[in-house]
Amino acid sequence: MAIKIKKIEKGDGLTLWEKSYLPEIIRGLGITLSHFATNMKSLVDEFALGKGRDSRTIMTLYYPEEQPVIPPAYRGRPVLVSDKNGVEKCVACGLCEAACPPACIHILGGERDNGDRFPRSYVLDGSRCIFCGLCEEACPKEAIVMSDEWRNLCQYDRTKMIYEKETLLRSEAQVQKRLDFIRSNSFSRDRY
Ligand code: SF4
Ligand code: SF4
Repeated sequence: MAIKIKKIEKGDGLTLWEKSYLPEIIRGLGITLSHFATNMKSLVDEFALGKGRDSRTIMTLYYPEEQPVIPPAYRGRPVLVSDKNGVEKCVACGLCEAACPPACIHILGGERDNGDRFPRSYVLDGSRCIFCGLCEEACPKEAIVMSDEWRNLCQYDRTKMIYEKETLLRSEAQVQKRLDFIRSNSFSRDRY
């Protein structure tokens, strides 16, 4: 049986005017100008007319005068949590070390006179951390949490990103927002 071949023209469907890119350039400039006008109106409303911060429709902050509000779900620098006596809650079980994908946690465990285990040394290599939060999930003691700290996470010198136990310790009050968040999360510590 003879095969009938039908030739299909595959044009791009664009007119000469559209091929000139001008319509899209004009459309893009129009969007930029409308954002500019919106932002200028917000500035005038807030500062010239004194309508206050709530009148602002701009989505950006005047940093550093205005600081961002960090939501509790944010995963910043992982930090160790201390108890009310200022002692780390970590019992050097090593679960966070085992759970950490880039292997940036190194723990040397020890035992106190009363038999309690503690980390003689707890080192976190911040230059390798990917902020995945698996250390926090693995910890049965709420001893390591993802804080809302986002400043100075990057350094030109990688040795400045090696954090020892002493620099990682935070009080419960300092990370209370995150503790409340992970306690309210049904996939959290209730499993352990
Ligand atoms: S957040 Fe992830 S990468 Fe960073 S220390 Fe914890 S487990 Fe490791
Ligand atoms: S999982 Fe928690 S208790 Fe265990 S070593 Fe890590 S921080 Fe310490």
